[in-house]
Amino acid sequence: MAPASLFAGRAVLERKDFDRLFAALASRGYRVLGPTLREGAIIYAEVSAAADLPAGWTDEQNGGLYRLKRRSDAALFGYVVGPHSAKRFFHPPATRLWQAQRQGSSFQVQAEKDEEQKTAILGLRSCDLHAIAIQDRVLLSGGHEDTHYQARRQSSFLVAINCGKAGGTCFCVSMNTGPKATSGFDLALTEILDGERHYFVIETGSEKGLQVLGDLPTRPAEETEIAASELVVQRTAAQMGRSLDTSDIKGLLYRNYEHPRWDEVARRCLTCANCTMVCPTCFCTTVEDVTDLTGEHAERWQRWDSCFTMDFSYIHGGSVRPSAKARYRQWMTHKLATWFDQFGTSGCVGCGRCITWCPVGIDITEEARAIRESEPAHGVPKG
Ligand code: SF4
Ligand code: SF4
Repeated sequence: MAPASLFAGRAVLERKDFDRLFAALASRGYRVLGPTLREGAIIYAEVSAAADLPAGWTDEQNGGLYRLKRRSDAALFGYVVGPHSAKRFFHPPATRLWQAQRQGSSFQVQAEKDEEQKTAILGLRSCDLHAIAIQDRVLLSGGHEDTHYQARRQSSFLVAINCGKAGGTCFCVSMNTGPKATSGFDLALTEILDGERHYFVIETGSEKGLQVLGDLPTRPAEETEIAASELVVQRTAAQMGRSLDTSDIKGLLYRNYEHPRWDEVARRCLTCANCTMVCPTCFCTTVEDVTDLTGEHAERWQRWDSCFTMDFSYIHGGSVRPSAKARYRQWMTHKLATWFDQFGTSGCVGCGRCITWCPVGIDITEEARAIRESEPAHGVPKG
């Protein structure tokens, strides 16, 4: 076990010893999910060694644009967030809730068992940790706890990476959610490449993290190494691709339900729902019942849904949000305004995914700015 002082201090793990982290997690029964290069993007999949990570790759991101590129070094984490987030593992796109089997003139219902597999996620960014905290609040409080989500979260181990570069669509600094991980992790790593040296400065955030750290061949970080790790996040914060002025953002959107900008964005929005699928905090689901052709077996599934579909707000005879304008306004106003009333925080963590993966490059920061700039010192909208 690591000395207790490491819990408060920081430790150094050399790159050549990085595989020991996988071994330490595997020995505790964790499957490890981490960033991998697949399908032209960096997405999460099962990994068992540093060789599975996208070493030497980076990404270029902008509104409606994602492109992989080679780096000039062998950084293991030299890119930003891809389309996946922890949401797809803790709150998966499809979950069977129960199944039923006909038995004579009756039927027997079998509830779905909670997942027992312990899962470690490697490479989460600070914005992702904030998104997990938001989903915890939504799905584990309020008297309607999602027990499947709870089981997955309780058996998880989170390894964060402090961002060494900002993406073109990132705005976590504006949202106060990054680029340095400050809570919600078991271990947080800063990757440092300095000439011939390649190492990680590690912080622990939990007792579990401290125990895993104790299995690694680390040593206490020196002052210069701590300073180098701080510089990495300072530089990243200074390169943020975008920003969002959050001052009175709730009041701004509440005052502007009828702003003409909603018509303008609706002319571009395809209502494809990509933004909600990639968003690490969007949590809406629908329920689907299916039977086999014999009528002997039935299943109920929970699937991700989106406020951009017509069916989502279908109530006795029609959708209450029939237009693209109504649906985009609902989504953005929920993220940046009504979420505060519902859950006490913003629903946006500034990860930029909705901007990158929107096929027409609609940008939540730009939409909010356009409305703000039309409103001279909180006066009447110019239109
Ligand atoms: S609204 Fe967009 S930027 Fe904000 S958390 Fe969701 S995907 Fe990320
Ligand atoms: S804002 Fe973009 S990603 Fe979202 S529904 Fe409209 S077109 Fe699709």
